[in-house]
Amino acid sequence: MSTVHTVLNPATARPVIDVPLTTLEQADVAIERAHDAFTSWRAVAPGERAALLRRFAAVVDAHVDELAELEVRNAGHTWGNARWEAGNVRDCLNYYAGAPERLFGRQIPVAGGTDVTFHEPLGVVGIIVPWNFPMPIAGWGLAPALAAGNTVVLKPAELTPLTAIRLGELALEAGLPEHVLTVLPGRGAVVGERFVTHPLVRKVCFTGSTAVGKQIMAGCAEQVKRVTLELGGKSSNIVFADADIAAAAASAPYAVFDNAGQDCCARSRILVERSAYDEFLSRLEPAVTGLRVLDPSDEDSEMGPLISAHQQRTVQGYLEEVEVAFAGTTPGGDGFWVPPSVVTTEDPSARIWREEVFGPVVAVMPFDDEAHAVELANDTEYGLSGSIYTADLGRGLRVARAVEAGNLSVNSHASVRYWTPFGGYKQSGLGRELGPDAPMAFTEEKNVFIAH
Ligand code: NAD
Repeated sequence: MSTVHTVLNPATARPVIDVPLTTLEQADVAIERAHDAFTSWRAVAPGERAALLRRFAAVVDAHVDELAELEVRNAGHTWGNARWEAGNVRDCLNYYAGAPERLFGRQIPVAGGTDVTFHEPLGVVGIIVPWNFPMPIAGWGLAPALAAGNTVVLKPAELTPLTAIRLGELALEAGLPEHVLTVLPGRGAVVGERFVTHPLVRKVCFTGSTAVGKQIMAGCAEQVKRVTLELGGKSSNIVFADADIAAAAASAPYAVFDNAGQDCCARSRILVERSAYDEFLSRLEPAVTGLRVLDPSDEDSEMGPLISAHQQRTVQGYLEEVEVAFAGTTPGGDGFWVPPSVVTTEDPSARIWREEVFGPVVAVMPFDDEAHAVELANDTEYGLSGSIYTADLGRGLRVARAVEAGNLSVNSHASVRYWTPFGGYKQSGLGRELGPDAPMAFTEEKNVFIAH
C-alpha cells in the first residue's frame, strides 16, 4: 500500500504534491503525546488559554489568502468560498476564545451541604474531517475542544489534507504548546479507525458519510466513547406561491450548487407549490444556465469541479438514470467537471429524490398544500437543513417547526453561523456543533457534594 497520497488539482486532474500518510504506529505515538500534553494544557489558566486561542486566530487571519489559495488548488473551491472558509476558522477560534473564562458550573441547593458542578475536559479528542469543507469542519471541532481544555488529534480527508496541515503549523507559530493540536493526514481505515479504538482518545467528532458514521458509532460503543456525528443530508427548499418567486428562483441555484453541490446542507430537493411551479421553473432556468462554472483559480468562478474522478462518476451515474430538464455548462478539460443540472420529478420513490447525490444536481417537485409540502419534506431518512420561502411569516415559522431537520431558514438559505447550533435529526447526525454550547460537548459534567 502506498505511503503517500498524491494530491490532485480537481480542476485540471494534475498532481499538486505528495503527502506522506500517517502509519498506525505514528498515530499511536501522536495520541500518547497528546495525552501527555493534556495534563499541562488543562492546567493553563483560563485567561491564558483564551489568549493563546486569540493569538492562533490572529495568525490564521494573517494567512487567510495563503490558506484560501491552498483550498482553491486542493479542493477546487472558488476564491470567495475559500476566503470565507479560512475566515471561519479565525472566527471560530475568536468566538471560542471566550469560552475558557466562561465554563461555568452551577451551585445547586441540596440538604446537608453544598453542591457544585464542574465542566471537566475529556482528554484527547479525535476529529475526523471530510473533503468537502476541510477548513470550517476542522475549526468547528478543534476550537471548542481546545477551549474546553482538551488536546486534539485531527485527521483530514485523504483527498484534502493541505489546509489542515498548514493550520497545525500555524497553531505552533501562534504559541500553542506542542502536541496540543496534532494534524495526522492518513487513511480513514488506519488513522480514523485508531481514534475509535485507542482508549486514550476519549471522544470522536466525525463528519462524513452516514455509512461510515454508523461504523464509527458502533465502534465507539465498545468503550462507551463519546461521539458527535455530522452526516449526510437531502434537504428541501420549499417555495410557496405567495413567496417572491423571482427571488426564490434566483437564490435556489446557490443553495444547491455552491461547492458544486458537495455540501451536506445542499437544498437538493426543491418543492414548489403547484400554482407557482411553471413560473418558478421558467425563472430557475436562466439562473442555472447563467451560473459561472469556471476554473476556480479564476476569481469570477461561482462553481468549480467535483473533488475527484470517483465523485464525478458517481454523480454522472445518477444523471444517466434521469432526464435532465436543463443544465449549465462546464469549462471541460481533464478536471472533474459536471454541469449544474435540474431534474423534474413527481415520483417520491425516485433515487434522485431520495439519495444524497453530493454533486450539482437538484430535483424539483410540485406540491398541493402546506401539509403535502411538510409530508414530502419529511419523507427522508435525513434531517439536516432546509429553507422555506413565503410571504406569510406565520406559515414560515409553522413549517420550520414541522420540518424534521436541525437547521431551517425562512426566506434565506443560510444554515451555518458559528454563533448558532448546527446538526442533524434522524440519520443526518447526533449531537450539535457550533453555537454557545459547543464547548460543553467536549466536557464531562462533574457533581461535587461537600457535607456541612
Ligand atoms: P467519508 O465518510 O468517506 O469520509 C469522511 C472522513 O472519514 C474522511 O476523513 C475519511 O478518511 C474518514 N474515514 C473513512 N472511513 C473511515 C473509518 N472506517 N474509520 C474512521 N474514519 C474513516 O465521507 P466523505 O466522502 O469524505 O464526505 C462526504 C460525506 O460527508 C457526505 O455524505 C456529506 O453529507 C457528509 N458531510 C456532512 C457534514 C455535516 O456537517 N453533516 C458536513 C460535510 C460533509
